[in-house]
Amino acid sequence: MKSSIRLFRVAGIDIGIHYSWLFIFILITWSLAEGVFRVTVPGEETLTYWLMGVVASLMLFICVLLHELAHSLVARARGMSVNSITLFILGGVSNLEEEPARPAIEFSMAIVGPVTSLVLAGVFWGLERLSADGTVIDAMLGYLAYINLVLGIFNLVPGFPLDGGRVLRSILWSATGSLVKATNIAATVGRLLGWALIGFGVYQVLTGSMFGFLGGIWTAFIGWFLSSTADASRKEVMLRELLSGKKVRDIMSPKPETVTPDTTVDQLVTDIFNRKHGRALPVCQGERTEGIVTITDVKGLPREKWATTKVGEIMTRAPLFTVSPDDDVSKALKLVTQHDVNQLLIQREGTCAGMLSRADIIRYVQLLQELGHDGRTSRSSPTGA
Ligand SMILES: [Zn+2]
Repeated sequence: MKSSIRLFRVAGIDIGIHYSWLFIFILITWSLAEGVFRVTVPGEETLTYWLMGVVASLMLFICVLLHELAHSLVARARGMSVNSITLFILGGVSNLEEEPARPAIEFSMAIVGPVTSLVLAGVFWGLERLSADGTVIDAMLGYLAYINLVLGIFNLVPGFPLDGGRVLRSILWSATGSLVKATNIAATVGRLLGWALIGFGVYQVLTGSMFGFLGGIWTAFIGWFLSSTADASRKEVMLRELLSGKKVRDIMSPKPETVTPDTTVDQLVTDIFNRKHGRALPVCQGERTEGIVTITDVKGLPREKWATTKVGEIMTRAPLFTVSPDDDVSKALKLVTQHDVNQLLIQREGTCAGMLSRADIIRYVQLLQELGHDGRTSRSSPTGA
């Protein structure tokens, strides 16, 4: 994920925080120092309250991290690769290379997060029982027990993409045999839940005190986030199902047009851009791909220089992203969206095999949608491949 800071590595997984976490950290520290702890341990110095706030916020950060690590470690034990965890505004995201292949994997991966939070709540509750009543330590342990309980329970709510929503999806997936159907239902519950939270947040804002006001904005924000993420996840699954099994080979041109770096810009424009109505071409020297030349590259050059300038002088060399004809179309789509590029080079065993544009992929997706692809593929089978 962009706009995040890498912190450290645990068990081969990069741990990072999204910038929004810094804001949340300050907000939580402030509400603990000025609100919660003044009530639970009255009569302390202001500095003490702020120190308690900072320590408790850091502990909360570690608890959220443990919750996410639990997801990631189970995912990895089930054979999926996990590169990194990013802690952000509502908790964390484990960056998985792929989605779980079977309902059972998704179930165990999802359930382990809330279970971790509930276990942590139990541990902090036990420690709080052991510590002397009314002390600073007692108050912090009490808060950590409470917040982990809230995290555990909130994440068990069955709205996708919350953990509980993933648990629901895995059960529906197993029962119906269709990942698309299961996602649709779980995401709808997620969206309804999101709207309910927005409604409740607005009610809190209209009726509450100062803390009620802040809490209301917070609730509404979480609701908005939940409903929009549920919708985005639903669309993503649809798209993935639509493209499942489709290869780059299926949409690439069998005889791709290429130019050599020695071609003059004049030739390029009259012979290729004008005649073929193309906007970009791969530049190949023998078997090697040297770069891409686009209309934008040409536009930067005065017309009188077209006859004397070679393509090699104006082409774009790097960074170029490549796919192979055997790669999935969904991988190509992921590359263009993640890196915000318009073209991908196609390499076949080190040779220049043409180019795939973002427009080609989008046109293909639209075609599949129009042909009424029903999303039934091998991936939807409950036993998987
Ligand atoms: Zn979780």
